[in-house]
Amino acid sequence: MLHFSCDLCGLQLDDRRYVVRMEVYPAFDPEEFDEEDLDADHLQEIAEILKEVEETGQPQLDDCGSKDLRFDLCPNCHRKFVKDPLGRDQLRRLNFSKN
Ligand SMILES: [Zn+2]
Repeated sequence: MLHFSCDLCGLQLDDRRYVVRMEVYPAFDPEEFDEEDLDADHLQEIAEILKEVEETGQPQLDDCGSKDLRFDLCPNCHRKFVKDPLGRDQLRRLNFSKN
């Protein structure tokens, strides 16, 4: 049987597990910016990247693509997450403590 733990606090999770799924993707078309730069040098670069992907299975260009993120949360962290998904409260508190 699979055991899950909370991605925020590390608590072992039972049936009351919450899954957060996020998709991050560019709202512009990255291809548009590439086309005019497609000279021989870049083709060489792309060939190297493709080779790397083949070898490692990890695309190095993932900043340009969409990203699916998935987290498991305990009920407690789920409640906190829903209130402040981007951690803005925490950022604000950090900024305050610097003063
Ligand atoms: Zn938690």
